[in-house]
Amino acid sequence: MGRKIKIVDTTLRDGEQTAGVVFANEEKIRIAKLLAEIGVQQIEAGIPVMGGDEKKAIKSIVEADLDVSVMAWNRAVISDIKESIDCGVDAVAISISTSDIHIKHKLKRDRDWVLKNMVEATRFAKKHNLYVSVNAEDSSRTDMDFLLRFAKEAKEAGADRLRYCDTVGTMEPFQLYEQVKLIRNEIGIDVEMHTHNDFGLATANALAGVKAGANYVGVTVGGLGERAGNAALEEVVMALKYLYNIDLNFKTSKFRELNEYVGMASNRPVPAWKPIVGSNMFAHESGIHTDGVIKNASTYEIFSPEEVGLTRQIVIGKHSGRNAIINKFKEYGISLNNDEATEILKEVRSLAVKLKRALFDKELVYIYQDLKQERGEEWEEEKLS
Ligand SMILES: [Zn+2]
Repeated sequence: MGRKIKIVDTTLRDGEQTAGVVFANEEKIRIAKLLAEIGVQQIEAGIPVMGGDEKKAIKSIVEADLDVSVMAWNRAVISDIKESIDCGVDAVAISISTSDIHIKHKLKRDRDWVLKNMVEATRFAKKHNLYVSVNAEDSSRTDMDFLLRFAKEAKEAGADRLRYCDTVGTMEPFQLYEQVKLIRNEIGIDVEMHTHNDFGLATANALAGVKAGANYVGVTVGGLGERAGNAALEEVVMALKYLYNIDLNFKTSKFRELNEYVGMASNRPVPAWKPIVGSNMFAHESGIHTDGVIKNASTYEIFSPEEVGLTRQIVIGKHSGRNAIINKFKEYGISLNNDEATEILKEVRSLAVKLKRALFDKELVYIYQDLKQERGEEWEEEKLS
């Protein structure tokens, strides 16, 4: 697939809706700049109708005149859209629930009311020359015939795309593929995937949507978002490149830095095991893996650490092998023969089990020194310098 897929980042809207997360306005502007620099095509910057600092931040992002479309989030209410226009954004998301569960229990209205409000809001936004994404909230639990009707009326009202929202993260890739394919075939409107990670399927579902013909993917940095979060920017971009052969030419070497920044600003540090950008992505300890990576990194790495702003780490611990020990000491200018390495390895394993962790480089040096001393050999200081 050589298709053009566009990334819509909603870290500043859906990401900030995470319980307990608030970004300062300075942080929002910094995040927006980083996102634009990396290559994201559209930023969902916030909800203007909230007013106050929220509105100020959106205005500041617009004024920063970044090379990116700035979208504001709205309910299907004219007064919301007026606030967005006041912020100077070029695009609006107009959101309204389409599932009967939401219509009945949340909105306490009916399907016709939903259609009428969506159409009026869309027409109003189009009259003001805005790019319009119509969001079908809770799409995945919406009756399919109604979702198709909603998409059709959105398109006829001038909407530029439909946001398929797996709002509560209950979809799975195969069924989702069928649904998006149907929308694309029947209605022909552009589709954006907006998927949540409640079952750990956010990225998989986003990719299934792309495969079915969706050409926009909504993401957040690190998957930050309500409950279990959203599809993660870095996962979607790298998966498109390496699994679907769709290279968006993003500045992916900034992914780690961006995740660290958002992690700091949201007070949710990047977990070591985080796909793509976690510090463990390129840390190798087990003997077989380390040996392979030292011989040729492609044996156990899909892409290079530099590509996402990480560095490779050979961790010495319980699972290490002799070759890793030899290589580690080489970094310090010490060449070990096989016997020495075997002896050190024995000590390394026993200490790692005792301490229940990998060893620091300094601890390796101590092991080496102790062994040398035991053997009564002279310690060669200059080797460590
Ligand atoms: Zn969401």
